[in-house]
Amino acid sequence: MRHYKILICLFCAVAAPGGGLWPQQYPAAATPTPKPRFQWFRRAPAGGGAKPAAARSSNENQSAKSTSAVAGVRPAKTVASKSATQNKTTAKSQTAVKSSRMKAGAGVTTGPRPISNWPTGKKLLALTYDDGPNSAITPKLVRLLRQKNAHATFFLLGESIRAYPSAAGELARAGSGFELGNHGVTHKQFTKLGEDGIRREMDGCNDLITSISSERTRVIRPPYGSWNTRVRDICETMGLKIILWDVDTNDWRRRTTDQIVNTVLKEARDGSIILMHDRFQTSLEATGRIIDVLGGQGYRFVTVSELIAAGN
Ligand SMILES: [Zn+2]
Repeated sequence: MRHYKILICLFCAVAAPGGGLWPQQYPAAATPTPKPRFQWFRRAPAGGGAKPAAARSSNENQSAKSTSAVAGVRPAKTVASKSATQNKTTAKSQTAVKSSRMKAGAGVTTGPRPISNWPTGKKLLALTYDDGPNSAITPKLVRLLRQKNAHATFFLLGESIRAYPSAAGELARAGSGFELGNHGVTHKQFTKLGEDGIRREMDGCNDLITSISSERTRVIRPPYGSWNTRVRDICETMGLKIILWDVDTNDWRRRTTDQIVNTVLKEARDGSIILMHDRFQTSLEATGRIIDVLGGQGYRFVTVSELIAAGN
């Protein structure tokens, strides 16, 4: 255990863009890459369904209101405006894309979509925390969420479960309002692995989660939010929904608590999936304030699976 912790620290010190922070949702290479890394999608087609590009395109002709509640808005970059209605819808889509800071994905045009948000009309939000558990932050976060009667989803890293079994156990015993999701074992980018490598990461994390919890894992967040058809198809065979996000707090970039809170207050809307990491004191503090402010506006905080179930 002692050796493991030392290795992690060395890795963080070397790999983090600013030094000292794990390169969370973005690889250590701080220089912008010309090729977008993320696929951005709104709600998946009804029934989790695969809709070809042509069918999704027809959704964009619906009103802005219905678009927010229906499936399959393509990345704004690919939307061509032809009518006033379409323009209105497109503008909304572009705003959503900009605010979520997701890049328009290229390449995958058919098949089930990862879920970045899931509007329900019920003012529900999903707080999600990646890369944990963490011995210093996760137990405090569990207590805070319990105290505020808020649910959340934790996308656990296999290595972190091994490193902090006590914190992992505490999280697993926290109850039904705390969903455990798969985030791989070693935080490798799945799209850079072959099928065997992807399965090793996914199975390894699932096995570790099973070792601490009797609940079956139903959701996965690929490291860096990076996926392709191979990743997606393997997830499908394992019964895992790919969950991305539409509000990125960038908490790993040494953001202050105020910055994290303000990002969420500005960008969150019904059905938003909010990305944070249970590794930082700032994220812990921000969570309390976010729940207080948005809770005061009538929002409720649910797990990702609860969010999806509420919108069906
Ligand atoms: Zn991560």
